Amino acid sequence: MSDVKRVYAFSEGGAEMKFALGGKGANLAEMTKLGLPVPPGFTITCQTCVEYSTGGSRFPEGLQQDIDAYLADLEKTMGKKLGDADDPLLASVRSGAPFSMPGMMDTILNLGLNDQSVQGVIKQTDNARFAWDSYRRFVQMFSKTALNVDGDLFENAINAMKQLRGVRNDTDLTADDMKQLTEQFKEIVAEHVSGEDFPELVTSGEVAFPQDVTVQLRLAIEAVFRSWMNKRAVEYRRLYRIPDDLGTAVNVQTMVFGNKGETSGTGVAFTRNPADGTREYYGDFLTNAQGEDVVAGIRNTQPIADLRKALPEAGEALWKVFVILENHYRDMCDIEFTVEQGKLWMLQTRVGKRTARAALKVAVDMVSEGLISRDEAVLRIDVDQLDQLLHPQFDTTATYDVLTKGLNASPGAAVGEAVFTADEAERLAAEGHKVILIRWETTPDDLHGMIAAQGILTSHGGKTSHAAVIARGMGKPCVCGADELKIDAKNRVVHVGGIDINEGDILSIDGTTGTVVLGAVSLVEPKPSGEFATILLWADEFRTMGVRVNADTPDDAIRGRELGASGVGLCRTEHMFLGERKAIVQNMILSDREETTSAALAQLLKVQRADFIGIFKAMDGLTVTVRLLDPPLHEFLDNPRELEVAITKGECSGSDMTVERKLLGQIDAMTESNPMLGLRGCRLGIMYPQIYGMQVRAITEAACELKKAGGDPRPEIMIPLVSIVNELETLRAESEAIVAEVQAEQGVSLDIPIGTMIELPRAALTADEIGKVADFFSFGTNDLTQTTFGFSRDDIEGKFLPRYLDRKILSRNPFETVDSGVAELVRIGCEKGRAANPALHLGVCGEHGGDPESVKTFHKIGLDYVSCSPFRVPIARLAAAQAALEEATSGSDNR
Ligand code: PEP
Ligand code: MG
Repeated sequence: MSDVKRVYAFSEGGAEMKFALGGKGANLAEMTKLGLPVPPGFTITCQTCVEYSTGGSRFPEGLQQDIDAYLADLEKTMGKKLGDADDPLLASVRSGAPFSMPGMMDTILNLGLNDQSVQGVIKQTDNARFAWDSYRRFVQMFSKTALNVDGDLFENAINAMKQLRGVRNDTDLTADDMKQLTEQFKEIVAEHVSGEDFPELVTSGEVAFPQDVTVQLRLAIEAVFRSWMNKRAVEYRRLYRIPDDLGTAVNVQTMVFGNKGETSGTGVAFTRNPADGTREYYGDFLTNAQGEDVVAGIRNTQPIADLRKALPEAGEALWKVFVILENHYRDMCDIEFTVEQGKLWMLQTRVGKRTARAALKVAVDMVSEGLISRDEAVLRIDVDQLDQLLHPQFDTTATYDVLTKGLNASPGAAVGEAVFTADEAERLAAEGHKVILIRWETTPDDLHGMIAAQGILTSHGGKTSHAAVIARGMGKPCVCGADELKIDAKNRVVHVGGIDINEGDILSIDGTTGTVVLGAVSLVEPKPSGEFATILLWADEFRTMGVRVNADTPDDAIRGRELGASGVGLCRTEHMFLGERKAIVQNMILSDREETTSAALAQLLKVQRADFIGIFKAMDGLTVTVRLLDPPLHEFLDNPRELEVAITKGECSGSDMTVERKLLGQIDAMTESNPMLGLRGCRLGIMYPQIYGMQVRAITEAACELKKAGGDPRPEIMIPLVSIVNELETLRAESEAIVAEVQAEQGVSLDIPIGTMIELPRAALTADEIGKVADFFSFGTNDLTQTTFGFSRDDIEGKFLPRYLDRKILSRNPFETVDSGVAELVRIGCEKGRAANPALHLGVCGEHGGDPESVKTFHKIGLDYVSCSPFRVPIARLAAAQAALEEATSGSDNR
């Protein structure tokens, strides 16, 4: 045996070893320890897979000897040998990564069958059909997976055999048919596999299906290792941010058979309902079927509740296992099992994937059942998943005709154009279309289309079918098993009850109820209630960081408040300068006459005051941080290209085109080559004091008016894009003078803090100077990311970011999750600012304020609050609570 321990018997491992044994291997070991009926076997570690991949696809030295030794032990335990002509041991070879990647990697069942051992199986079971069926399944699966033979060749042979015999189902084929198919499959292998690729298959110059069981085992293990890097596995890891260097374990396990007749069966189950969290056993099973048949959706399954009727002894045993597993893992578990001639065998368990809705219900229920504590409940919620609950639902007041119904496999509603292939879904989505992917049943090859689609609709398969499991994981609405749909994917049409739905027709699906509607149903955004509200209230008890909302309108402010925001952290004012007000703004900017400018400013003052009254009222009693105008002024002017075209075509107001020519000249004069680094932010305030003056007056007048009416307005004035303390000092003095003037005019006294955004590296680095003249800092991490990297925030996505991510130059989009360099500037800014001014209030209002991972970073830095868009508020509340709890459990205090 080699020095490195690469192989573990199930009896040697445990749940804590998932990074070595993968999730499946670690939990098989745990169940073995618990005394549950697990078919014996051993696991080759994930690190071995990494060694194999990085070592030129070769078995590391010593691995073969380790496998031989563990196989010999297994054979001893079972009293059977692989390939034995009398009573053979058969094994499954399955992948199992540290994080579940359902269906993404390879599995080989019935390994150990060959021309001799098939006779042994016949002898032992007295069932020739079963034996030959198992052998042909093995040749098919092994050749497809380990020898890269096109799977269609086998399917075609089966179909031809069914046609020849005049039968519809595989189950109608006889032992002899299966034997003939096995021979045909072996011929396919001889014809399609190259001896150069697989020299171990060559005997006397001819390629043949391997009869040597050690060759079978070795090639099967290599196939599983290789499947770690197959396209769909790589894509899945990218989607779920699973590192590529973890590798997969390989589990070699004694086979048990669910297809040994009517007292056998196989199934998948959850200890609670993974779609909505209800406390009920949930899942499907099939009698007389093997492993993948359930998930593949090939036959319609029976609900798990019927197992106790269909297979009473195994059903009773499984009910006991459900209880043992939930109590042991203190969580909802998902299970794969097989019943072999009445006896239950456990093939897998893990903490089950669930929808966000189910996660919340299970967590809250388990607290009331006394299984877990409140902080565990809060920590258990996958914050990224909560987004699902803030997804649209059918408007309950909408009227529509139900086209058909399927299973409510993954909640949420979606509207989009019907498409029939994953490629088409991806193509149309890239062009900006919203699509619903319709498939008979999805396979792992459809993953890219599922990612691109708004929702998924299938005509086949149960709630644990591929489509259902993957859609739930992604938080996409999914209706599956809608069997009235007669899909003709080739002609891109689906027939249902006399109606044809063609590609491009609009469909609405509701994965919460399983409803399918032809046409668009209006959707509504749900609000947190029930268990969601409970978890958020618990989260609020634990978090130390405040959560505010970024809102420019009273509606957004109210929505943010309803979702738990404790103030507005960023009220951008530029949107208030658009629409019908654009003309006033243009007058203000372009007029060279004093009176026109003043009149425009007076008009703007009036409308801005009304805007602020609306928002301050909505947030009565809570802080509203209003940012003075930020973008370059030419953004409010006409497009110079269009103007040039109009001039060229002579489509102008007067015959001499003077107005247009003058306008074009003014626009040209204001245009900058780097507008993001140009005349914007506080620089506008310095250049055009009258604009900031008008805004400060509007804020103060609005607050005075509300205060006089008995309200409690709490505005703050925020100056953007400061890089030099003198900018803030100058603008602060000018603003304070106006605030004082208005208070004197109105006879109202107010406290209006004045602060700045920190969105330039120089501002962060000189925060000790700036902190002395600011009441608060709000880190504008959008611009701070832009200026720290020198990446244009408006262009990077369509230019080089995708390549940077592909080539792993960046692991994340730094505009989504705060980068460590940018976070370091935030940390320096906080530290220096606080040292200069201990009363300084510190927050963040860039998009990162609603990104769970960034929220955790900001907690560690010690910010007082984050501010984010309305629908991210619950996410930020929970992420902030988790950050506080994680800090408490790790016992570290990084502040
Ligand atoms: C920022 O830069 O992070 C910010 C919040 O301001 P804006 O996105 O409006 O530039
Ligand atoms: Mg900014």
